[in-house]
Amino acid sequence: MSNEITRRKFLQVTGGISGTAAAVSGTAHAVPHPPGWRGDQRVQLIATNCEMCFWRCGVMAEVADGKLLKLQGNPHHPMTKGKLCARGNAGVALLNDPDRLKYPQIRVGDRGEGRFKRVSWDEALDFLAERLNDLKKKYGPESVAVFPHGVHSGFFSTLMRAYGTPNSAEPAFAQCRGPRDIGYQLTFGRPVNSPEPIDLEESKCIVLIGSHIGENVFTSQVTAFAEGLAKGAKLIVVDPRFSTAASKANWWLPIKPGTDTALLLAWMNVIIDEKLYDADYLDKYADGLKELEAHVQSYTPEWAEKITEIPAAQIRDTAHAMAEARPAVAIHPGRHVTWYGNDTQRARGMAILTALLGAYGRKGGMFLPTRLAQGRIPLPAMPESEKDAASRANGIYPLATEEAHGLTQVLIDTTLTGNPYRINGWIVYGQNILESIPMRQRTLEAMKKLEFMAVVDVLPTEQTRYADLVLPEATYLERYDPPAIVTTHKRPFVAIRQPAVEPMYESKPGWWIAKQAAKRLQLEEYFPWTDPDDHLRRLIAPLGINESELKSLGAVSFDGKPYIEDRTEADGPLFPSQTGKIELVSSVLKDLGLDAIPKYESVEGPPKGFVRLIYGRSPVHSFSRSENNEWLDDIMQENPIWVSTTAATQFGLHDGQKVIAENQDGVRSPIITLRTTPAIRNDVAYTVHGFGAQAHGMKKAYQHGFSD
Ligand code: SF4
Repeated sequence: MSNEITRRKFLQVTGGISGTAAAVSGTAHAVPHPPGWRGDQRVQLIATNCEMCFWRCGVMAEVADGKLLKLQGNPHHPMTKGKLCARGNAGVALLNDPDRLKYPQIRVGDRGEGRFKRVSWDEALDFLAERLNDLKKKYGPESVAVFPHGVHSGFFSTLMRAYGTPNSAEPAFAQCRGPRDIGYQLTFGRPVNSPEPIDLEESKCIVLIGSHIGENVFTSQVTAFAEGLAKGAKLIVVDPRFSTAASKANWWLPIKPGTDTALLLAWMNVIIDEKLYDADYLDKYADGLKELEAHVQSYTPEWAEKITEIPAAQIRDTAHAMAEARPAVAIHPGRHVTWYGNDTQRARGMAILTALLGAYGRKGGMFLPTRLAQGRIPLPAMPESEKDAASRANGIYPLATEEAHGLTQVLIDTTLTGNPYRINGWIVYGQNILESIPMRQRTLEAMKKLEFMAVVDVLPTEQTRYADLVLPEATYLERYDPPAIVTTHKRPFVAIRQPAVEPMYESKPGWWIAKQAAKRLQLEEYFPWTDPDDHLRRLIAPLGINESELKSLGAVSFDGKPYIEDRTEADGPLFPSQTGKIELVSSVLKDLGLDAIPKYESVEGPPKGFVRLIYGRSPVHSFSRSENNEWLDDIMQENPIWVSTTAATQFGLHDGQKVIAENQDGVRSPIITLRTTPAIRNDVAYTVHGFGAQAHGMKKAYQHGFSD
C-alpha cells in the first residue's frame, strides 16, 4: 500500500463539505494507524500549528525519512483538540506546490515585465542592505514602508523598526478587524483580538451579524457554534443572504445592506424602553445609561423597519429573545468588518448591545482574556523617527495607531502623492497586496513609482513581478515562527510552530532572512538570540513550562479566568477604558468631537440597474492564499456570482450562464459563472472573496474566477 496520501483519498476525507460540523475532520477518523506508524513504516509525529489561515490549529505532521506524508489534527491542542479543516489537511499541497518560489531573484527587465536573474542568498541580501542604506541616506528611513502580515511577521517588523521607519501596515487592521477592535476598545477598554473570545458553546442565544460561521470555518469556532446550537441556543442571523448559518437559525433577518446600525439601535430601543437590560450589571460596571436611553428613544422598531426592511415585530421578537437569554448572549463581533466606512460605529453598537445584556465577561457571552507572563527579549531602544508615520501625519484617522497595525491605503496614497513626504521603497512580507487591498490599479501605480521593492513570499504572487528583489520564504511546515501565546481562550495556552521538514529548494525561514538582513545593516543587536531554540526559550522562560514537553505536545495550557466572578484585583482592571468603566457613551470619541453614541447614517445605495455586491468565504479556501493549492483547487476552482432568481429573470439570465459583471465605475470582471437562488435579496449579489489571481506563475490560480 502506498504511503502517499493521494488527492483522491484527501477528497474522500474532506470532500462533500457542507454545513457546519461536517466541515471539520476529527482525528479519530483521520488516523487509521496507531500514532507513530503508517502501515509498516515508522513515522515521526511533529507537533506544529497550521498557517493555511490565521487560526493556527494544532497540527501533527507525519514525517518519514525527512518527507511529509500527512497532516492530522493535534489532540493535545487545548483549543482545536485534534480538528483540522480541509485547508489544514491541504497544507501538504502547499509544501509540494511546483510553482513555489525556489531561489532569490533580482529584477533585470522593466518593473512589471517579469524578467529576473537567479542570485545567491549572499548577493540577494547584500543587494537588500545596499538599497535600504541608499534610501535611508537619500530620503530618511521613513521613505521605506513595510507591509508585513501575520504573527510570524514580527521578525521583519523588528528589522524595519530598527532601521528607523514608522511606516508599517497590515490589511488585518484597515481591511479587516480594525473598526471592530477600535469599537470594542472604546466600549470595554480592550479590543476583541483573535481568536475571538465568544462563549458560543455556553450561549443561550447566538447573534450573527454578517458572520457566516460554517462557510467561514475556523475549526474550534465552528465546533463551539455547533455545540451551542446542539445544547439549545437560539440563533439570530442577520444577513442579506440565506447562509449556511441562516439555515440553522430561529430568525433569519435578510437586512438591507448597509443598515445594520439602524437594527442595532432599534434593538437597544426595545431593550431600554421595556427595561429588559441587566440593571445590576450596568449599575456596577457601566456609565452613560441615561444618555443612551435619551439617544435611542426615536430609534423605534417601526423607524428601523423602513430602513432595514425587517418587520418591526421581528425586531421586537429578536430583542425579546436576547433579553430572555441574558447574560448568556453571544453577539459575534464579526471578523472582516470593513464594509461601508461607518464600521467603527456599527461595532460600537454591537458592543453596547452586549453590555446592555450584561454579556461581557459572563458565561455564554464574551469571556475575558487571561494574562500570561510572556517573556520579553530585551532590545536596544528603537531609533526615534524624526517624522510621524504617514497615517498619523495626515491626521485623518486619529484612532488608528501604528501599534494597531497601521493603514495600508495611506501608505499607498503617500507613495502616489508624496504627501506628507515621499515613500520610495516597500518591503512586502506575507501579504498579497494586489488582492487584499481594494483598488488594485492604485496599488499598481504606486508600485511603478517606487525606487525599490522587495517581496518575501512562498509563491509567485502577482506583486513579485513588480519587485526588484524576490526572496523565497520557506512554508510554515518548514520553519520556526514565534510561539502562539494565546490569552483569548478560556484556557490560555502556548503553542509552537516548528519545522516538520527541511526547507525545500533554496527557500529560507523568515527569521533567518530578517536576522541576516539585520547583520548586513549593522542592526544585529536587535536580534540578540542565536537560533530559534534560544528565541523560544527566552519567550517561554517566565511561563515555567517544560520546553521538550512543549515541543512534543505542541501546546501547553493554563488555568484561565474567563468570567468576571473569577477575577480578583490582582488580575488588573476589568474594564481598562479611559474611565475604568464600560463606556456606553465613549469618552474618547467625545474628546475627539465625534459621535460618542452611534447614530444611524445611511450609506449610498447602488445606482439604478445595479445590485450591491457582498462577499464572504468558502470553507475550502483562505482568501487568495490557497487559490493555487492543487487539492483545494480540485474542490473549488472559481467563485460563481450569486443573484436572486427574481433579479436574474429581470436581467434575462439563467442559472449556470456565463456572464460578465460590471461595477459602477465601469470595471468589468472576466467571464464568470452565474448562480441563481431564491436564498438572497433581490438587490444583492454575492461571491466568495479571494479569486481572480493575475499571477502568471501561479498556474492553478491564474485567472480562475474574479476578484471582488
Ligand atoms: S481553520 Fe483550517 S486553515 Fe485555519 S488554521 Fe485551522 S486547520 Fe488551518
